Amino acid sequence: MSTDKLISQRLSKIAPSATLAITQKVRTLKAEGKDVIGLGAGEPDFDTPDHIKQAAIDAIAAGKTKYTNVDGIPELKQAICDKFARDNDLAYTPGQINVSPGGKAVLYNALVATLDPGDEVIIPTPCWVSYPDMVKLAGGVPVMAQPDPEFKLTPVTLDRLITPKTRWLILNSPSNPTGTAYNRDELLGLAEVLRKYPHVWILTDDIYEHLVYDRFEFTTLAYVAPDLWERTLTMNGVSKAYAMTGWRIGYAGAPRPLIGAMAKVMGQTTSNPSSISQWAAVAALNGPHDFLAERNTIFKERRDFVVDRLNAIEGISCPNPDGAFYVFPEISGLLGRKFKTDIEFSTALIDEVHVGVVPGTAFYAPDHIRISYASGMDELKQACDRIADFCKPLV
Ligand code: PMP
Ligand code: GLU
Repeated sequence: MSTDKLISQRLSKIAPSATLAITQKVRTLKAEGKDVIGLGAGEPDFDTPDHIKQAAIDAIAAGKTKYTNVDGIPELKQAICDKFARDNDLAYTPGQINVSPGGKAVLYNALVATLDPGDEVIIPTPCWVSYPDMVKLAGGVPVMAQPDPEFKLTPVTLDRLITPKTRWLILNSPSNPTGTAYNRDELLGLAEVLRKYPHVWILTDDIYEHLVYDRFEFTTLAYVAPDLWERTLTMNGVSKAYAMTGWRIGYAGAPRPLIGAMAKVMGQTTSNPSSISQWAAVAALNGPHDFLAERNTIFKERRDFVVDRLNAIEGISCPNPDGAFYVFPEISGLLGRKFKTDIEFSTALIDEVHVGVVPGTAFYAPDHIRISYASGMDELKQACDRIADFCKPLV
């Protein structure tokens, strides 16, 4: 059988992850000895804090290296309940917690556990690359909400998109790729619409919760609208805040029947997340958090620097977002002559001047690019110089 025929129809409708692809390309060019600067990766350049690494080493030494409960060890579930209570004023019990191998897996397990063919999932755009494809893989239909002003879904748009087939709304704040975040009033506005449609569940992806700047106050839907708690999956993870992308631990709180269904998926697919990573995550959530403020000061400096430098380039317009570690400038002023699309622009940027960014099209927002500023200041300076030189002849 030829490989074409081997691949399922379901998978052939799925795009490869553009964010991972650009990161891979940067890695390959670096391995070839090229002086490439990768601003494509969605991961902190900081190291995992030492006390977290030590907890993993201790777990190995203590022989905590066997299968665990499928959806998380009790100690981690308790640490997650404590985190939700401490940071979000949300009450969950350990039976209402799922731990999966990464935030990505939490989302996928939830979608597989709940979507029947034809079920719709509303995804505000610009959105993280993986949401629509995960929905399709799980047999559902992604319903892409066109961008509203400031890249935030408005109650009017939400109301217009809900149908009897809507199963989920996915909300990601602060957002990948734009960095924009919903404040309390904006969430209350959406909650008012959601109250009218009791069949719609809400998946809040809060993975960038701790990465907010300029005193922005992070909050989450199940907290601002407690009556919606019953149909909200509050998802989070240790990848971004604790610089633990390689450890693969994500988690969520939700009513028990959904958590049970997700555990059923895991029991027949991945089984538990790595036992060692789970112990490291216990140390992350229960341990000191002062490093977060220090790192955020650095992230904010980098954000301000990159936003200023980009806005100084003719043809680029870059908002200053509240959180995450991405900026999402519009580049339409640079398109139309040498490059027609953000994809052509981004491809040439890495090929010609060796700066890796992700084209906006990957996030359902053409004419933009996503730049991750989770890199050292020297690299960011060099990258901005190269981008400025690259853009000069394009206007
Ligand atoms: N949600 C968003 C919005 C993300 O950017 C990421 C990063 N890949 C994830 C979820 C998943 O993170 P991870 O699987 O590393 O926990
Ligand atoms: N979330 C990150 C990004 O958007 C990591 C890569 C991925 O999992 O997509 O770049």
